[in-house]
Amino acid sequence: MPIYEFHCDSCAHEFETLVMRASETVRCPACDSEDLSRLISAHAVGSGAPDTACGAAPCSPAPMCGADACGACE
Ligand SMILES: [Zn+2]
Repeated sequence: MPIYEFHCDSCAHEFETLVMRASETVRCPACDSEDLSRLISAHAVGSGAPDTACGAAPCSPAPMCGADACGACE
């Protein structure tokens, strides 16, 4: 599941949300700001594994290299 952690630059609220599409606009649930910084997702933390060869994060909502190369999350 592509769960991302965000930090709101407007109110410093931190939250996690599912991002199903790379183009999806995420807003802060506390202040409705779009001025967010995306943190490394908990999903990827601690794996120690490098990103996929194409540079897209594992389980990215839109793998750059196609589904086969990013199938670690299946
Ligand atoms: Zn906020």
